Amino acid sequence: MIKKQRTIPLRAQILRAMKRRVHPNHDKYEDLLMELGIKEAGIYGEQSLDYYLKLLPETDTPYYIFHDLRLPYRDSHFQIDTLILFSNFCLLLEVKYLRGIIYFDPKNNQLIQEVEDKPLKALQDPILQVSNQCFKLTSWLKHKNLPKAPCEKLVVLTNPKVIVKVLSSPSIVEKHVIKSPALSEKVIPLYKRNSTHYYDKKTLNKISRLLIKDHTPLQSSPIEQYKVRPIDIRTGVFCPNCSPHVVMGKIHGKWKCTTCSLISGDAYVETLKDYALLISSEITMRELKRFLRIEDKYIIRRLLKKLEIKGEGNTKSRTYNLTPLLIKT
Ligand SMILES: [Zn+2]
Repeated sequence: MIKKQRTIPLRAQILRAMKRRVHPNHDKYEDLLMELGIKEAGIYGEQSLDYYLKLLPETDTPYYIFHDLRLPYRDSHFQIDTLILFSNFCLLLEVKYLRGIIYFDPKNNQLIQEVEDKPLKALQDPILQVSNQCFKLTSWLKHKNLPKAPCEKLVVLTNPKVIVKVLSSPSIVEKHVIKSPALSEKVIPLYKRNSTHYYDKKTLNKISRLLIKDHTPLQSSPIEQYKVRPIDIRTGVFCPNCSPHVVMGKIHGKWKCTTCSLISGDAYVETLKDYALLISSEITMRELKRFLRIEDKYIIRRLLKKLEIKGEGNTKSRTYNLTPLLIKT
């Protein structure tokens, strides 16, 4: 049973909005596209693992799955891609979507990636990463006075095309690195081997509650990092059908794309979400006019009413809270 669903991280949502809205001639546009590309591959890889998680065998006792946890550890936090809590052990999955040829080198704590004719790249050793997470999770359990079950770890490679080579410690790589289709095959012996059951259903539910309570999403703004100013952000309702930057025109209560002729009644919702992600979750009537490129405040009020967005404050300084739009996604 999935206890914590995977969500699109806020930073990736902001980067997606930046890709649409920031002027492509901005100094950092290529950099932000590059970061987004890495993030999208990671998201795709994690989503593709869901199919194999569904194939996990039924066990005598229930198990819980948690995606994207970020938990406190001492003065900082640690992140877990996927945690599966069985009654007899914890299983941590470090999910990687990598291209090209990868060389595992646990002895030197590195992973080397070779993509086409590009220079070799040294990456963090994911086996070491997931081992550290095990250590920190065990310490978290202890800190919460919860029983400590053995912690098992796997690095799951989600790109079927990646070629795996091993430079050192082959037995460690064989034990801890798999491609997604091997997940079930690897989990069954782990379940059988750990014969002591530490967690009854009540304890599992307690751990589950505490994990979700302690989860702290990362708050980091790529807007500041890439030095994007409000003036760099394009306004207007974009056509969902055409590539970004095609602004739709408003006719008779709907939007029409002059390029592909698509007619949409709700294309403005994405525009408001972009505003909330990139500029502020609160918006004034003046800003609504500017960002939606609509002069008539009565039309804007109707659009807001459709979304059940109410104004706060008196007429002159009234602001509209766009947060509910983000929560819905
Ligand atoms: Zn279009």
